[in-house]
Parts: sequence; structure tokens; C-alpha cells
Amino acid sequence: AKRDAHYVEKAVLEDRSSALDDEVIDLDLGDPTMYEKYWKQMGDKTTVVIPGWRFISYFSDVKNICFFLESELADAIVRLHKLVGNAVTQGRSIVVGTGSTQLIQALFYATSPANSSEPVSVVSAAPYYSAYPSFANYLKSGLYEWGGNAHKFKGNKPYIEIVTSPNNPDGSLREAVVKNKQAGILIHDLAYYWPQYTSISSPADHDIMLFTVSKCTGHAGTRLGWALIKDEEIAKKMTEFMVINTIGASKESQVRGAKILQAVADSHENNRGSTKSEESNSFFEHSFNLMAHRWKILSNAVNQGNIFSLPQFPSGECSFSRRTFATQPAFAWLKCEGEIDDCERFLRKHKIISKGGNYFGDSPKYTRISVLPRHHVFENLVHRLSTISSS
Ligand code: PMP
Repeated sequence: AKRDAHYVEKAVLEDRSSALDDEVIDLDLGDPTMYEKYWKQMGDKTTVVIPGWRFISYFSDVKNICFFLESELADAIVRLHKLVGNAVTQGRSIVVGTGSTQLIQALFYATSPANSSEPVSVVSAAPYYSAYPSFANYLKSGLYEWGGNAHKFKGNKPYIEIVTSPNNPDGSLREAVVKNKQAGILIHDLAYYWPQYTSISSPADHDIMLFTVSKCTGHAGTRLGWALIKDEEIAKKMTEFMVINTIGASKESQVRGAKILQAVADSHENNRGSTKSEESNSFFEHSFNLMAHRWKILSNAVNQGNIFSLPQFPSGECSFSRRTFATQPAFAWLKCEGEIDDCERFLRKHKIISKGGNYFGDSPKYTRISVLPRHHVFENLVHRLSTISSS
């Protein structure tokens, strides 16, 4: 009977394993569902109840440049940046939007030269975030257009350069590449400048900075981003864009976002000086550890053979956590070595859906895979990659 039980168990395991081998693993988008589990564990700490009479008005604070910004959210943003030390908020206007996606477009509108005879070029160093070209071109604007890889931008004419650091897709830490202060506007997209992904070296102090809850806390569905803007005229024009586009950003999202950002800050301040295990419940501790674990098992799987390689990241000391560590990005920028020319197609044959290098202005030898899915999907990915690597 014992032996029969053994065979039944083995059959069930083999069945489950072949079901796993058969499952399509879709990691084309950076959907941050990894964070769901943490927030479930936090229970009611972030539950928001909104009575029916609230948010009837279009307005939040008419004295503010961004008149639809809820003060609760503004306070939470300033508190969190202070705690983490990743951005200077003093002397900046906050403009809130439906994700940083909307704010990027508001910035194109707000920073394009007013009286130009031709559209200004929007550039970013390849490999760049694949949505930038669509944002710049889909309306065929007369104000701006996609100008491609910033490394190839020539001429002494106006341009807008998006600097993404850490970068999507390859996790690199970046600075502007077109260095022409007179002609250029820089947009710093700092969606991933949080201590679970990279060491915080100093508070970012640029004129235009973008953040989003999507990659900070994982609440992509809340559709909430914010811009920190030094020049009031730019903040005003962004607000003007927002008025024409959507007359503001949802206040329900803002108060929910505020509650979540406050809960993140509370989790650190309340756990200060506590035991190690209590401390590991602090949001950035918890998510740092998860990312470290994911990168460890992913690198092991990939490095088992010579089929794939991953970028190398330099280490730095984090002023927030005091740890020294290498960037552990939200995406794996996987390269197929040897004769495989199209890494996306190669992985697709193995039922892994990723986004090929050509979408990011780079070679199809690369492909991008999200590192932020739910636990079982990630485990399945690692298992599949290790089977391919060791074959
Ligand atoms: N910028 C970068 C670099 C991103 O990776 C993303 C999301 N993939 C965004 C902006 C947009 O984020 P959201 O609109 O969800 O705030």
C-alpha cells in the first residue's frame, strides 16, 4: 500500500510538472502583481472608506497650481520622499496624473517650444521604454514627435530627452546623453528609483521628475503618478493639459494612493528599532528581500548554460537601507547568446511571452521579461528557463 501511495504521489507530481511545462507564461507587460501578497498581509491598514458626499467638486485647492491635487496625497508624497531620501521636494510643485503615462504626455505639451515651425524631437537613449515612441507619435502632434535614440541625435536644435533611471528595460543607471543645456529639456522618469530596485545614492534634484505608485507600491490599477516640477510655468502648462484632457485626476485614487503611501512610511517608522522579523514587514525591507531572492534564483537558472546572459550591475551603498547592493531591476533584459538571433521568438517556442529588443530600439537578440508577477508565475518562469539553459 505504501508503494502504491508512492507511485500515486509520483504520478500526481509528474502530472503537475507537465501541466507547469505546458502553461503559457505571459511576462510581456510589467504588471506588478508581486506586491498583492504583501498588501493582503497588511489587512485593513490601507482600507479607505469614502462617504457619498465627498468629491462632488472638480476642485481640491484653488490656491494650488494643480488645483485638483488632494492635500492628503501631497503630504504623503513629501513624507515618503523625505523618508526614503530619493528626491528633493522642496521648491517643487506637485502635479498629479492618471499614472505617469498621462504626466509624460502633459510634459510633452508643456515643454514643447511654443512658436516652433516644426515639431520638437523627443529622444531617449536606446534601449528605451517602448511606450515613449507611441506617447510621442500617436496623435501626430504638430508640437512634438518621436526622434529615436538619444545617442544618435544631432544638430543644435531644441529637443526633449527622457532620462529613465533605473532604466526600463535594462535596469541601467543613467544620465542625460545629449548634453546641450541651452536647447534641451530633460524629463527624468524615476519610476524605479526606489530602494527595492536600486541603492539610493542621493536625493534626485532635477527640474522635472516623474514617479508612480505603479512601480513603488505596486498599485498600477489605481492609475496614479506624480511629477515634481521646479518651474511654475511648466507646472501651470501641465495643469492646463490635464484640464483639457481629463479635468484633473480622480480624487478617489488620490486618497487611496495617499493612504497606501502613508502606510509604507508608517511601516518603516513604526518598526524602527524593532526585532529583525518585525522590521522585515516594513514595505521596502519586504520588497527588497523579495527582489533579491527573485534575482538570485533567476540568475542561477540563466547561468546554468551558455544560452542566455543578463546585464551586470554595479553595486552602491544605499543611504536609505545602509546596505551595499547591485541594482535588482523590475525587468530582466535577457540576451540570447550564440546563433539565436531572435530571443523573443525563441522564448515563445518555449511558451514564455516576452517583449523583444526591437520594441526598445535595440537588437532582437535581447528580450524583456517582467520580474514582478505573482509568486507561482515567477517560480514557473525560473523552472522553465533553467530547463532550457541546462538542455
Ligand atoms: N515610465 C516607466 C519607465 C515605466 O516603466 C512605466 C510603466 N511601465 C511608466 C512610466 C508608466 O507607469 P504608470 O502610467 O502606470 O504610472
